[in-house]
Amino acid sequence: HADLALYRAKASGRGNFRYFEPDMDLELQARRALELDLRKAMSNGEFEVVYQPQINIEANEISGFEALLRWHHPIRGSVPPSEFIPVAEDIGLILPLGEWVLQQACATAAAWPRAIRVAVNLSAVQFRSRTLVQRVASALAKSGLASNRLELEITESVLLNENESTVATLHELRGLGIRIAMDDFGTGYSSLSYLRSFPFDKIKIDQSFVRELSTRADCLAIVQSIASLGASLRMTTSAEGVETKGQFDQIRAAGCTEVQGFYFQEPKPAEALVFSTADLGSERIT
Ligand code: C2E
Ligand code: MG
Ligand code: MG
Ligand code: MG
Repeated sequence: HADLALYRAKASGRGNFRYFEPDMDLELQARRALELDLRKAMSNGEFEVVYQPQINIEANEISGFEALLRWHHPIRGSVPPSEFIPVAEDIGLILPLGEWVLQQACATAAAWPRAIRVAVNLSAVQFRSRTLVQRVASALAKSGLASNRLELEITESVLLNENESTVATLHELRGLGIRIAMDDFGTGYSSLSYLRSFPFDKIKIDQSFVRELSTRADCLAIVQSIASLGASLRMTTSAEGVETKGQFDQIRAAGCTEVQGFYFQEPKPAEALVFSTADLGSERIT
């Protein structure tokens, strides 16, 4: 995207032209352009938080929504989180951005007609910040959201270089009354040992296992095992990325507690949410 890089070089003004010297390789130019756009995105109001329902299978009820960040850039269009979150982490932007998501999510959930939960994804970088617990407590206080309605999702990368302070932070968050979920479970380096380091409230089985349910018997066996492991550990088990009725039937038969996926609903803006499974299309659940 040399054209885009050149465009950004002009648009971003004199102060930034040094990032685009002709001998700089194109990939690096594109990366610098992305960083510049990302730094301006917050003040330009280009970020949005969307919400995807989490459905309790047995109760046939929406038990919460996961908050997911969106970036709408005037020229790039919608940039997926998988592209911009790692960059935001590298340039330190994830701290103010993550705090903004947390504040948005808490304020939005505080206005919902039912006292259900909101789940917010936390980056490992946020997790290493010494002010995390304080920021979370202040987002709750500012919004008036009850702490038991907030769930924080962390990935196995948070526990990769686990030390005493990692686990202490998890306990401090739990001490505020917040629930802690392990996201993308099964993709990490040492998944089972992470379950031993902290008593998570929820295990979210990674989408990759769900995607191959119908074609691979081993995926079904893995999902069944995680569901029964979760039940023995008294943790909720959730299956992510459920797209078809066939996948949902298998997930339910495997004994998972919750599901989330396009089969039920794609993530939507706060003003478009519905709070009853009947409004998602009840034929989908029963
Ligand atoms: P995640 O937390 O595992 O979120 C689930 C992802 O799966 C979301 O992608 C969601 O839109 C997508 N998804 C949900 N149902 C389906 C389905 O049925 N099929 C398929 N193919 N996908 C489905 P999204 O929104 O693109 O986010 C990707 C990742 O980016 C998230 O994975 C999370 O790790 C990260 N992310 C998103 N928002 C935030 C945020 O506010 N903060 C941080 N730190 N990370 C975020
Ligand atoms: Mg998540
Ligand atoms: Mg996930
Ligand atoms: Mg993921």
